[in-house]
Amino acid sequence: MDFSLAPEDEAFRSELRDWLDSALPKFFEQAGEDEDLRMAAGRSQERRRLWQRILNSGGWAAIHWPKEWGGRDATPTQRLIYSEEMARRRTPGMFNANGIWQIGPMIIRWGTDEQKQRWLPGIINADDHWCQGFSEPDAGNDLANLRTTAIRDGDHYVVNGQKIWISTAHLAKWGLFLLRTDPTAIERGAKHEGITTFIVDLESEGIECRPIRDIADEAMFNEVFFTDVHVPVANRLGEEGGGWIVAMGTLGHERVGMAGQAVILAEALRAMSAMAKSVNPGALEDPEIQERIARAWTEIELTKLLSYRAFSKVLKGEKNWPEVPFAKLQWSYLSQSLAELAVDMLGVHGALARGGPDSVDRGKWVRLYSFQRYSTIAGGSTEVQKNIIADRAIQLPGKVS
Ligand SMILES: Cc1cc2nc3c(=O)[nH]c(=O)nc-3n(C[C@H](O)[C@H](O)[C@H](O)COP(=O)(O)OP(=O)(O)OC[C@H]3O[C@@H](n4cnc5c(N)ncnc54)[C@H](O)[C@@H]3O)c2cc1C
Repeated sequence: MDFSLAPEDEAFRSELRDWLDSALPKFFEQAGEDEDLRMAAGRSQERRRLWQRILNSGGWAAIHWPKEWGGRDATPTQRLIYSEEMARRRTPGMFNANGIWQIGPMIIRWGTDEQKQRWLPGIINADDHWCQGFSEPDAGNDLANLRTTAIRDGDHYVVNGQKIWISTAHLAKWGLFLLRTDPTAIERGAKHEGITTFIVDLESEGIECRPIRDIADEAMFNEVFFTDVHVPVANRLGEEGGGWIVAMGTLGHERVGMAGQAVILAEALRAMSAMAKSVNPGALEDPEIQERIARAWTEIELTKLLSYRAFSKVLKGEKNWPEVPFAKLQWSYLSQSLAELAVDMLGVHGALARGGPDSVDRGKWVRLYSFQRYSTIAGGSTEVQKNIIADRAIQLPGKVS
């Protein structure tokens, strides 16, 4: 595969670099350097909103969206360049990452003109925050088992049930929810049928969000309870019963951008080595730590090659299978092992938690040590990814009954 860039892609990269050279200092001037580590904290949200609006003013918030909705109709190569450049410059998080990467493209693909007009401008300009409500107590990896019902009653649906683990639902005005419009489908053995996608106003009467405290002592995700909530028919995205197809498209968008992840991991390894050099230089002389750094570096390079392989398939119009589940496994494994390595490199400083006067990098690495446990669960757990690879990619023999 020839990865040299076409002149228009080189021009795209230079335009983005030049823009970041001027936009990033302006952002830090207005927002300050000090970012609250908790994604759901008010101050952190306002910084994210400011950064997304600066991006949007330059036309860089949603490059994969069509030009008519504020995007750039970016090609797959330009998306790769974008994710690498953003990772390299360690740009701040966006206010509406979910809305930009997953929900917006679904509205563009499945929404009516009226729905696009109503919601896309607010997503790209960070006016309202959006969340994604799929999981339920009995529907995680087995998502098609979802049971929160939406029963049609004239010009609206009546929603009852419970979602769980919904990130930032307590901050969101809108959410893309998967609901069951045909409650008989599960009993009929057709659980992928009878699911419909809705855009729900989280300020509607009958919705209660209860934040759940996580392993890092933050309350970033929520249980969301629905009691006779009225959702207008006009908020249905796609056909009734067509929600599974819409959802699969949404999850697909979650898995784009692994190349950017490899650059982020490489930057993290560089940053933690620099941190060790300043607070615990002896760690870098330790042969065991040295070996772990070398192994992590090699794995990051392999991850980059894996994502390039997936990318070359996309360019050839092929399905990037089975690279997607491999990349998910690789990213989650590396995120956790890097966080463990960082804390070990800190030595005694590794015991100093966030908030303490002596914590290193404001406790960033210590927080990641526990927070990264999420990476092997969210977006398809490791065990289930391995099952998929065993069954469908390498076709290992199944259980003999
Ligand atoms: C930080 C975080 C943020 C999240 N944000 C959101 C969000 O915004 N919106 C949303 O909808 N969801 C969200 N989730 C939920 C996430 O998508 C689910 O946690 C994930 O799908 C796994 O589902 P579960 O937790 O119900 O686990 P389960 O599916 O119940 O799995 C429990 C355990 O059983 C194992 N297991 C399950 N099935 C099998 C099998 N067939 N074979 C072998 N092992 C199996 C799993 O690997 C796992 O170890 C978030 C989760 C986390 C951790």
